[in-house]
Amino acid sequence: MVEIKLTNTRTRRKEAFVPIDPADVRMYLCGPTVYDRAHLGNARPVVVFDVLYRLLRHVYGSRHVTYVRNFTDVDDKINAAALARKEAGDPRSLEDLIRARTEETIGWYHADMDALGALRPDHEPRATDYIPQMIDMIADLIAKGHAYEAAGHVLFDVRSYPAYGQLSGRSVDDMIAGARVEVAPFKRDPMDFVLWKPSSGDLPGWDSPWGRGRPGWHIECSAMSAALLGESFDIHGGGIDLQFPHHENEIAQSCCAHPQADFARVWLHNEMLQVEGKKMSKSLGNFFTVRDLLDQGISGEVIRYVFLMTHYRKPMDWTAEKVREAEATLRRWRGIAGGVTQSGTAASEIVTAIADDLNTPEALAALHEMYRSITRLEHRIAYYEDEFPSVGDEIADFVTSAQALGLLLPEIGEWLEIADEVGERIMEIAIARRDARQARDFSTADRIRAQLEAAGVLIKDGPGGAIAWERGPNFDPDKLDGIL
Ligand code: AMP
Ligand code: ZN
Repeated sequence: MVEIKLTNTRTRRKEAFVPIDPADVRMYLCGPTVYDRAHLGNARPVVVFDVLYRLLRHVYGSRHVTYVRNFTDVDDKINAAALARKEAGDPRSLEDLIRARTEETIGWYHADMDALGALRPDHEPRATDYIPQMIDMIADLIAKGHAYEAAGHVLFDVRSYPAYGQLSGRSVDDMIAGARVEVAPFKRDPMDFVLWKPSSGDLPGWDSPWGRGRPGWHIECSAMSAALLGESFDIHGGGIDLQFPHHENEIAQSCCAHPQADFARVWLHNEMLQVEGKKMSKSLGNFFTVRDLLDQGISGEVIRYVFLMTHYRKPMDWTAEKVREAEATLRRWRGIAGGVTQSGTAASEIVTAIADDLNTPEALAALHEMYRSITRLEHRIAYYEDEFPSVGDEIADFVTSAQALGLLLPEIGEWLEIADEVGERIMEIAIARRDARQARDFSTADRIRAQLEAAGVLIKDGPGGAIAWERGPNFDPDKLDGIL
């Protein structure tokens, strides 16, 4: 069996992965808060853990892996989005508006992550479907002396859990110094965090022993993972930004509620995504959603390839240059994969690279090597005619190897045809412009150029009437319609 090695944040070491039960390998990933479209950074953990999910299914069998990723559907940001709609004159009740917002966002999330070729997890629990389990867990924590009620809130008593901070390797005092903790007069310790809080007016709330209220964010993951994966499971993941406080708090809650269990044995964290060397933020104007990119004609497969170019434990930089490189590579790879229908075997060097702490850059390098060797064989076949009858088997193995990374899947391959059609249309328009120039009809030529620019296409005139064009960052294929 392939040995999988993973860097466990908890032990800060790369360790051989040994599942609790190889017949049911269990993994939990913190999912999105569903108030808006996923931004590009949110897609990174989805792709990283999809690669791991595919590897676990390959090694243990697809029926022997359970992957859970939650939807946080109760949150201030969701309430704010619904309130904004109500204030803008929407006649629906706040409750209806909240439900509509979360449903709509979950639909977007599915569509966007499907486009990246990410398999849907086995379970996608919504927090609001697990409120009774959260209430039970909170009551249990109070009974065990790890939580207390104060001013309608229930708080976790951090000082009751001496191991608090172990995941990040920091003491409670260090964390207090470094964190922006919410100071509240009813907290025994500034680090104590909310398990339950009161809900006012027509905001979402549930009856509980502590009055009408709603859960804190951290208890959601502790309750849902226990309900679906048990008190001990194998892998817990998320972005590194969640390590503290979210994951520390999950550990405190789960380990205090179930002291005989392990909670999650392996903690895996992906590093953050940046854009052209800068933090992605609305104020810098480099903030975009997955859907923004898809709408610009950058396919989900290209986005996935760019992500895989960087190891998940390193910060990754999203750049236009990488997009060009990814697209050119996938175009070549899909070019040879086209007609092959037989199924192959994933190459051992690809599986080994992925199994080595998800070394996707090395797996991509191995795929490049496989591609080169296939094209060399093809050249020899073309030269020596039938000395080698076919490279069909090699290509089938190549495609299956790429699919281990979620690339070259038929369901995410349509982009190439669309891109080619769009490319032909741009070329047709650009030729019409050149012809207009050559006929000295400069007003038509200038109009076409301006319209292409408005669609985000930059035209360069080469010598002898040659045409080169480039898709700019604002490319919008819909704006090509009606230019000619
Ligand atoms: P959120 O909805 O903000 O809780 O984030 C959902 C997931 O996206 C979490 O696993 C975060 O760690 C992850 N995430 C958020 N921003 C980034 C980023 N810039 N790069 C990588 N992962 C991110
Ligand atoms: Zn979580």
